[in-house]
Amino acid sequence: MMFEEIVKNATIFSVKKIIKNSMNSYLHVKDYQEEVVRDFDKKKNYLLYMHIPFCHTFCPFCSFHKYKYDEERAKSYFKYLRQELRKVYNEGFHFDSLYIGGGTTLINEKELIHTISLAKELFDIKEVSCESDPNHIAPSSLKQFSNLIDRLSIGVQSFDDEILKKVARFEKFGSGEVIEEKIKAMVDLIPNTNIDLIFNFPNQSEELLVKDLKIAQTLGVSQITTYPLMNSELTRTSMNNAFGEQSNTKEYEFYKLINQELKSFDKNNAWSFSKKRTALNDEYVGSHNEYIGIGSGAFSFLGGNLYINAFELDQYASLISQRPHAIIAGSHFARREQIKYHFLTWLFNGKLDIDKFNATFETYIQKTLAQELYLLKRAHAINIKENIITNTEFGNYLALCMMKEFYSGMDKIRAMFRQNHLKLAV
Ligand code: SF4
Repeated sequence: MMFEEIVKNATIFSVKKIIKNSMNSYLHVKDYQEEVVRDFDKKKNYLLYMHIPFCHTFCPFCSFHKYKYDEERAKSYFKYLRQELRKVYNEGFHFDSLYIGGGTTLINEKELIHTISLAKELFDIKEVSCESDPNHIAPSSLKQFSNLIDRLSIGVQSFDDEILKKVARFEKFGSGEVIEEKIKAMVDLIPNTNIDLIFNFPNQSEELLVKDLKIAQTLGVSQITTYPLMNSELTRTSMNNAFGEQSNTKEYEFYKLINQELKSFDKNNAWSFSKKRTALNDEYVGSHNEYIGIGSGAFSFLGGNLYINAFELDQYASLISQRPHAIIAGSHFARREQIKYHFLTWLFNGKLDIDKFNATFETYIQKTLAQELYLLKRAHAINIKENIITNTEFGNYLALCMMKEFYSGMDKIRAMFRQNHLKLAV
């Protein structure tokens, strides 16, 4: 193995370890028996995340928080969600962007329209980004959202029928060709359309990945997001059942291929490519330093604190009826961990203005993160010129690894709650 490659592998290993260690502070979540009073800047605009936790059926790679759809249950959930919207309004928050994630966000259009409309009525929301699956993008349905949603992100994952069959999406959403046609039919209805693809599926070849990327570019979408397959604790068994053991050995090679194939696009962050660089993308964690999550199982990050809403639907409803919010647990980041967290999210966006970063977080990273900066420079992951850090391609890959570790930490929290370790009785 060449010396340079050894350094790169060692850096990937070290960076993952740093993030894993940092995530341990996340994982020291405490349950909050009492009502939480959140300290925040009433003049500031935050991002609002809204979670819709329902799907008709589940995909084996998906670790998101969700329940099987039941219309009555969903209607009742939306009612409490709107109640929570009013509560964050009464708490004094201001939001200028709304991100709706799931689950299957468009699973009950009427309720969603009602809820987005209320959010727009209460807050001066300038942009709404919403996830969707390929079954809820029929032009007749989407027309209702053309004035409500600015960006729709469609989870395609792959156009390859064999992969779609293995991840149980072929029967659910149709063949690759059917999905292509569905996207072509709707692409002009919403100002920005993104499609999500996953790479590094076990047994995926370079040819199959390139084919997916080429198809994606023919559909007229303004953004393409390419996620590495995540090794979540919540999905490992179902993925192993579908594909056999997973491996990361080809991940970096695939990533280089993606960059090559999408070189005519601007990079919004390490895994999002668009025709025109935009802050409107799937990673609200990366584009917003702080955000408030509403809905069952939603996370908020505010003032160095992670807050976690009740997962279980009855508990969520009960808390929203009785308290100002549905927070059941949380953790506090030590100051250094906060700096590292923000450093990661800024680096994930590809560029970091050191002076701006230092001023925003009242720090001096040349000293506080001297070790990390040295490591990244030594591995040729970053360049620093006139106090601006820019990622190299390898740096972008490292940022992707870091974000992947971050999401894997979040999954661990979901797994803990799924096992009911921290369930709060109300
Ligand atoms: S990938 Fe989408 S449709 Fe599949 S289980 Fe996850 S949220 Fe539901």
